Amino acid sequence: MAALHDLTAHEAHELLWRGEISSLELTQAVLDRIVEIDNEIKAYLTLTPEAALERAREVDTLLAAKRRDGEEPSPLLGVPMAVKDVICTEGIETTCGSKILEGFIPPYSATVVERLTEAGAIILGKTNTDEFAMGSSTENSGFFTTHNPWDTSRVPGGSSGGSAAAVASGEAIFALGTDTGGSVRQPASLCGVVGLKPTYGRVSRYGLIAFASSLDQIGPLTRDVTDCALVLGVVAGHDPRDSTSLNLPIPNYREALLPDIKGLRIGVPEEYFVEGVEPQVAEVVRAAIDLLADLGAEMVEVSLPHTECALPTYYLIAPAEASANLARYDGVKYGLSCSEANDIWEDYRRTREAGFGPEVKRRIMLGAYALSAGYYDAYYLKAQKVRTLIKEDFDQAFSKCDVLVGPTSPTVAFKIGERVEDPLQMYLSDIFTLSQPLAGIPGISIPCGFAGGLPVGLQIIGPALGEETVLRVAYAYEEATEWHKMRPQL
Ligand code: GLN
Repeated sequence: MAALHDLTAHEAHELLWRGEISSLELTQAVLDRIVEIDNEIKAYLTLTPEAALERAREVDTLLAAKRRDGEEPSPLLGVPMAVKDVICTEGIETTCGSKILEGFIPPYSATVVERLTEAGAIILGKTNTDEFAMGSSTENSGFFTTHNPWDTSRVPGGSSGGSAAAVASGEAIFALGTDTGGSVRQPASLCGVVGLKPTYGRVSRYGLIAFASSLDQIGPLTRDVTDCALVLGVVAGHDPRDSTSLNLPIPNYREALLPDIKGLRIGVPEEYFVEGVEPQVAEVVRAAIDLLADLGAEMVEVSLPHTECALPTYYLIAPAEASANLARYDGVKYGLSCSEANDIWEDYRRTREAGFGPEVKRRIMLGAYALSAGYYDAYYLKAQKVRTLIKEDFDQAFSKCDVLVGPTSPTVAFKIGERVEDPLQMYLSDIFTLSQPLAGIPGISIPCGFAGGLPVGLQIIGPALGEETVLRVAYAYEEATEWHKMRPQL
């Protein structure tokens, strides 16, 4: 048997249900792993070991009762997990990786956290992130950088880099991340785990601290596709507290995992294999696509002509929304407060100057500029129009195929420090993951091989509410390969 900290949630569930392990043992094993390696990985901002162990004991009692009554429990009952620090957890510090929220303890939990807790999952702590989820490497965290478990001199990706690194290294069985322009999928790709960004509105954003409200979605980071389906099944669904949440039935995502993809039409966008993609990455992804063809899928050439507009469009819309969302951090109601001046405007200025890091300030300025009276039409309004064109590209493509495939990230994990001085280079990390949130559609990244010893991710993109098809293709690929079973040597 694998080490307890290396189990998937569904494997752990089998053992828990059969009474071969207890949740207390499992939780303790993962906490021990954290003690052993987190000084090297630095995945967590906050740990809650006592609460986790106490909850594990409660869950064990519940499990015993269910076993006695022959009542099948939730598949996540007793499974320890991590939560990205942009998601509110009642009573547990939530900072968004920012000094401006240091010490903030939310009075309530996000809907996703409530749902997972009700399903019996056990929260181990909060994971590191780029400040307010703005970044692709966790280097924009106001506290420290997380290290990639496959090579600790490299970044884990971002902004959900803490969650991805925790899952990859055995420091959590699964985790939650958020994706506004790639922040679940890109770190999943760089850390060799599975990461899904659901359709906009599929998962409640209540209690998710907003970055760009028309793009943000919470998604699972897991060790395989089955776990991804299980976690999605728990967190998805309507929530009256999020006005953008979709009021539609939730499919049984696990039942969608059929290994057969014969006859399914898979589109390969020509724009996803361009200059800038590392040749070895392109090679690995091409081989993965060939395998899908061998499994009986019908391959279709498609085009997403506005792909090159995704980056400028995203970097107008996301900062514009961020500049409005981040206006609330003024030092009055919560978080950091620098009030010495006896002058409210001066206090706001001092608080925001001291509390926000350079990337967040850059985005607030970009966004405020794009929204300002003289420039609104030229920038923000124009970006909204191009956003529609990007969405129409996908509509066109999905009239010819069921899913699209390509690389998640143009490169493998890069060295810590390599891109910090060059924001544009950093922004290019997300070149293939920016357009799906702009179009509101789902995408998953799954491990599909290695380049120079570092993991490569295959991205599978579906139409709105196409999660079942996306998961089915991901599962078929996973069933035919062994990549998801590889663990970094630490
Ligand atoms: N890297 C992108 C950004 O910095 C995406 C971040 C995200 O998805 N949260 O905006």
